[in-house]
Amino acid sequence: MNTFQSKDKKTTELIANWQTLERIFLRPKSESSRKALVKYMEQILFGLNDFLKKHVGITEEASLKELSDRFKNSLISQNPARKLSDVIEGIIKDIAPHAVNVSSPYFIGHMTSAIPYFMVHLQTIVSALNQNVVKLETSKVVSVFERQVLSKIHRIVFKKNDAFYDKHIQHPDSTLGSFVEDGTLANLTAMWVARNAFFKPKNGFSGVEKDGMSKAYQAYNIDRSVVLVSRFAHFSLRKSGGILGIGNSNILPVDVDGDNRIDIKKLRAKIDELNHESSRTRILAIVGIAGATETGAIDPLTEIAKLCTENQIHFHVDAAWGGPTLLSEKYRSLLSGIELADSVTIDGHKQFYMPMSCGMIYFQDPKIMDHVAYYAAYVNRPGSVDLGIKSLVGSRAAVSLTLGSALEIMGSRGYALLIDHGIETAQAFADEIKERPLFELITSPRLNILTYRIFPEDLKKDWQNADDNRKKEIENQLNQINITIQRLQREAGKSFVSRTTLKRTSHENMVVLRVVIMNPMTNMVIINEILDEQEELYRTHLVD
Ligand SMILES: *Cc1c(COP(=O)(O)O)cnc(C)c1O
Repeated sequence: MNTFQSKDKKTTELIANWQTLERIFLRPKSESSRKALVKYMEQILFGLNDFLKKHVGITEEASLKELSDRFKNSLISQNPARKLSDVIEGIIKDIAPHAVNVSSPYFIGHMTSAIPYFMVHLQTIVSALNQNVVKLETSKVVSVFERQVLSKIHRIVFKKNDAFYDKHIQHPDSTLGSFVEDGTLANLTAMWVARNAFFKPKNGFSGVEKDGMSKAYQAYNIDRSVVLVSRFAHFSLRKSGGILGIGNSNILPVDVDGDNRIDIKKLRAKIDELNHESSRTRILAIVGIAGATETGAIDPLTEIAKLCTENQIHFHVDAAWGGPTLLSEKYRSLLSGIELADSVTIDGHKQFYMPMSCGMIYFQDPKIMDHVAYYAAYVNRPGSVDLGIKSLVGSRAAVSLTLGSALEIMGSRGYALLIDHGIETAQAFADEIKERPLFELITSPRLNILTYRIFPEDLKKDWQNADDNRKKEIENQLNQINITIQRLQREAGKSFVSRTTLKRTSHENMVVLRVVIMNPMTNMVIINEILDEQEELYRTHLVD
């Protein structure tokens, strides 16, 4: 179907008029235009994929400048510039090769990776149906379906019994969780609920949502509220602090222990200290991480839960990354204690292997989201099933259709295979690092994430007799080496490992290489190639 091509002219002149407009909204009538549309879908599925197969990584820094020079036109063309087939071809030829091939098994640096084919089909259905889950009037059965998906994930987290789900799964007054854009908004939702539940209405005070933070502090006779998190907490929590008027400097980082988990002794000490400050400060929530973004570490959830219960503090678990580990019989116990949380964040676009993007927030108490309910006269009236009533998001896509269908296609066993592969491959990766003298393992994998760095043998020897000053020098040198190698490997474009700076205490600054294993096609052969390349880069560029 030549979407915007004038019917009378076989030339390439494209015009926008009512006839062409009609054709793009109507179902194609002729056999040939139907065939053309199907062909375009084929191009998307296979043409894109072929291109992605040939390419990996981002191109050199120089070409980023060249690329931005190509996109400097701020004018919208008055007449249609290209027809659909040309647009698709243009994306495949000009955009895809310069995008990042996140589906390559050599791309092991980030939490974005290959997705199963069927996700493209499911996401296409979501677009084609174009339901808006903000309200029942624009989604109907899809809202009901979404509640079922929410219950399924709620159940693997909180493990309530049949009676609980029978009661709440479709009850309009119960909310087991909410789909949002991403993990950032899921964490924000958790903090929003925790804040509002804490500063609830009392004599002469209508609650923080209505009256604001200043009145809330007055009503509760305090000066400050804080959230306690591990030093490795995701920065989205600091955003929540800013947005909710808590202040991001009141999202207080607690140091981690030798295993990069929040130091429970220091956490307890911090709670006692804050409780003692003649109590002008209140702790709104404590966050435990189930799969830290940088290291994959899992905080001691059961112990944090205990502290929260003793002190009546909201317990949030950020399982944006680690949540789906619960589907693995072999490894779910790594997350034990998560069922004691008040709220849990899980991302669909991470280890549920969904396309971008899908965040989810779950609550133990099906009534707690009442603290963030909003009603509107034209939709979302009290008592309705409209999912938009208790959601940070307004209009949104029905990505629950994608997740619910994916769960059927994969089964928990299918997901478990992916999870187990990631964890076990990361362990093998760590073993390989220990075998290679050029490297040092920094954080061994709890889940499928690990960090390591290049630490040449001569510097290792040097380190043993070094005083504090010399040690600092060596650390700086190592940081530079690792920054350089990571950049060179990225620019070479064959493989990709990311880098981060670990701050386990307030004075530590260690540059490390970070690996996330989530592509099921990433194996030890590939991993050894990646490490060989790093060794080679080190020898050719940094040894004179
Ligand atoms: C990725 C991640 C987030 C943020 O999720 P987005 O979907 O990127 O907004 C929050 N917490 C943890 C632990 C994460 O890994």
